Amino acid sequence: MKPDKYIKNYIDGALQPSDSGEYLDNYNPATGKVYAHLADSATADVQKAVEAAERAFPEWSNCGTRVRYRILSRLADIIEQNLEAFARAESIDTGKPFTMARSVDIPRAQANIRFFATSIIHFASEAHYSENESINFTLRQPLGVVACISPWNLPLYLFTWKIAPALAVGNCVIAKPSELAPMTAYMLGKAAIEAGLPNGVLNILHGSGSKVGQAMIEHPKIQAISFTGGTATGREIARIAAPMFKKLSLKLSGKNANIIFDDCDFDKAILGTLRSSFSNNGQLSLSGSRIFVQAAMYEKFKDDFVKRTQFLKIGDPFSPVTDLGALISLEHMEKILSYIALAEVEGGKILCGGDPIPMKGQYESGYFIRPAIIEGLSPNSRVNQEEIFGPVVTIMPFETETEVIEFANATEYGLAASIWTKDISKATRVVEKLKVGVAWINDWNNRDLRTPFGGLGKSGIGREGGMEALRFFTNAKNVGIKY
Ligand code: NAP
Repeated sequence: MKPDKYIKNYIDGALQPSDSGEYLDNYNPATGKVYAHLADSATADVQKAVEAAERAFPEWSNCGTRVRYRILSRLADIIEQNLEAFARAESIDTGKPFTMARSVDIPRAQANIRFFATSIIHFASEAHYSENESINFTLRQPLGVVACISPWNLPLYLFTWKIAPALAVGNCVIAKPSELAPMTAYMLGKAAIEAGLPNGVLNILHGSGSKVGQAMIEHPKIQAISFTGGTATGREIARIAAPMFKKLSLKLSGKNANIIFDDCDFDKAILGTLRSSFSNNGQLSLSGSRIFVQAAMYEKFKDDFVKRTQFLKIGDPFSPVTDLGALISLEHMEKILSYIALAEVEGGKILCGGDPIPMKGQYESGYFIRPAIIEGLSPNSRVNQEEIFGPVVTIMPFETETEVIEFANATEYGLAASIWTKDISKATRVVEKLKVGVAWINDWNNRDLRTPFGGLGKSGIGREGGMEALRFFTNAKNVGIKY
């Protein structure tokens, strides 16, 4: 399974250029250089893909769960057998450390497909029995042609997380990865051919969100949209798709609280905070970007956290000792640096990092910055209200449980939170009051595939993950039998 210089669409079982024949540049963020090109698709490509999907739907939706299980399992096997190649491609495309792509992104992509391949064998629907009168049972039927649109931060990881449940229950899929990180989605198309996925069941389109993405969400034959990305894009998708009564699942941005009480296990809280702050260069919707530390422990925690952050190794994504690689793009790096400047304007103190790193050799034009910790900002400052999506966190003291709940809930986002304390009653009380879709106690980013996932407010609507995803991608038809 090899990456190629020209990333083509996968439509109706074949790799093909876009209808226009045009390509966009694909950058390696660590070198800042163009290293591949992706099909610049538009409405005509979406039309072709939808027609292929519609042709494939009757057979795919009726071939039975065992057939779908077998083909999807084969697809998971192919990713597993090509782990190195996929991980290498993911690292080059995103700038993330190869070690992370190899141990997290690609194994998870494989696990997503395997999980949903097997889950349909166990998927059951409800029955409601009324004595001496009737039985109601629920048919769970695939929706038809559905769209899956994913972001660049966990490319194959999130792409497969959407595609796998959609296919498993019998839908045909039109999917689009981010134009910033399309390579492993392209390779997935090749793997689908090798796995024997029937033509038209999965179609992968490349190009820009504003062109091909927009054409997908506007297409009247697309019944449902599963989208992960920024809140502004999610709002635009809802604006177009809601009046067309498409089923929508929107997994959007976050501005998550990381709450550290002074009775926590200090070492575990520090290590967890390092991970939640800077994993994947802070380019995770689940990053704990607002850190609240109880006053009695604040100075000690802050000093230790700053020291450990300064020890993180930033640079060559292929070095086994690298903790943080490159940021995804020049534009994104500039956005992050603008927030560091804003933090100073808002009265914040940069405790460490926040500056671009001058690199030498092949990485001299890459997008590298030192991870930043900022203190002295109010919970209501813009830096504490807007998603930065980079290696930038703020740290703030708090006095009481009531106060920190107020601070944590003081954003319009509602994705995730972590709480560090040995007092499980307190942790549970706090969790109950947090306005989030996902919370961890003495942990961060423990993502069991069986659990529901999603946010509140500006972090989105709907739940995916586990059975929730199978429910999203099916229509629940109730059937009442009188006897
Ligand atoms: P984005 O700009 O919203 O893009 C996400 C996807 O939507 C990309 O494939 C993009 O294509 C496409 N797109 C853009 N405009 C579109 C349109 N008008 N119609 C249809 N599709 C369109 O987000 P991103 O910058 O890739 O990702 C970062 C964001 O994702 C962050 O805010 C992060 O919090 C969020 N995220 C959320 C979760 C979660 O589970 N809640 C997980 C990961 C990331 P192009 O790439 O071509 O623009």
